[in-house]
Amino acid sequence: MRRNGFQRPFNGMQITTWILLPLLLTHFFMFLTPTLPKDLSSPLTIAFGVSSLLAIIFGGVTTKKDSMDQKLYLHLNGSPHPNAKPDSEEETKYCWVCQTDVCHHSMHCKYCDKCVSNFDHHCMWLNTCIGSANYKTFFLTVLWTLIFVLIHVASICLQLGLYFIGNEEVKSLANSWFDGAGAGIILVGFNIAFLVFTAFTAFMVLQLLVFHLGLMRQGITTYQYILKDAAKNREKMRFIHQVREKRAEELQVAGNGMEAFILRMGATPCCIPCDPIRKLVKQEMEQAEDNASKGNDDHSYAEKFDSNDGDMEEANHSQNVESPRSFHESTTPVKGLDTHRSIDSSANGSANVIDLAGSS
Ligand SMILES: [Zn+2]
Ligand SMILES: [Zn+2]
Repeated sequence: MRRNGFQRPFNGMQITTWILLPLLLTHFFMFLTPTLPKDLSSPLTIAFGVSSLLAIIFGGVTTKKDSMDQKLYLHLNGSPHPNAKPDSEEETKYCWVCQTDVCHHSMHCKYCDKCVSNFDHHCMWLNTCIGSANYKTFFLTVLWTLIFVLIHVASICLQLGLYFIGNEEVKSLANSWFDGAGAGIILVGFNIAFLVFTAFTAFMVLQLLVFHLGLMRQGITTYQYILKDAAKNREKMRFIHQVREKRAEELQVAGNGMEAFILRMGATPCCIPCDPIRKLVKQEMEQAEDNASKGNDDHSYAEKFDSNDGDMEEANHSQNVESPRSFHESTTPVKGLDTHRSIDSSANGSANVIDLAGSS
């Protein structure tokens, strides 16, 4: 069981982080600090140093914190999790891997081999799970990483820009750098290479930050987002399949006249907005959804009625405690949206064993 990201075995992406981070710091302090104009060098170096230090501290705290489910922690250690909220009366479910009751919103991570409170994702760069215990520090790690990488990008642009427009101070600093004749050109070469790398990194980290801001706005986790997105994709595929079938049916009836021509034109990309088959299938699906929701309402009414003699309580309990059958289903992976991610979902829609590795 992985308690935190500093435990062996380490993974490739984690080791890459440990190599790239010192490389970026070394480049800034050795290649930029001595070659930027004197009045800009100090403030930029201080800003870079402080922001990179904060990113390292928050990254370290995120990696070190154990995001284990509170009930599992109590079960294993006999003492409450440091992040446990006192008197929390959360619903529970049974994890067949941990072999104990865990909080309802926890998920079992395949990489960490433990249930994680409010599972967000397994971060490959830190090689640890992000959950309620370390989500805040994870977000701050991303934020400060973006800030220090942006300062890095801006400093390289400044140095290269001043060098190429012929700023005397920068040219002289570049040429005297490393005490060698022609060192300015070597320095420029290094800076261009690092500009490409840092600009790409800044773009990726910015994307990640915007993604998590969006999740916060919606009040959902990465895992819930992936589930929603997968459901949306399944719905889209179902719609396309039904349109195809309906068109084939209608074409059989229509023969070869004008009606058949309109039906065939509806399948072309330019005619999608006015395709009669799509409109028809959409209406049918909406109608089916309405009927299903009415059916659910009737069902919940029946459940409420039954709950008068205690049946409802039993039904709720059986939803929270997964049967061996649903566990078996939960260990069959349903491939996710990209090659890094797959989600194991149980029949009742609540995932149990998770293999959700985010490249964050
Ligand atoms: Zn578990
Ligand atoms: Zn994990």
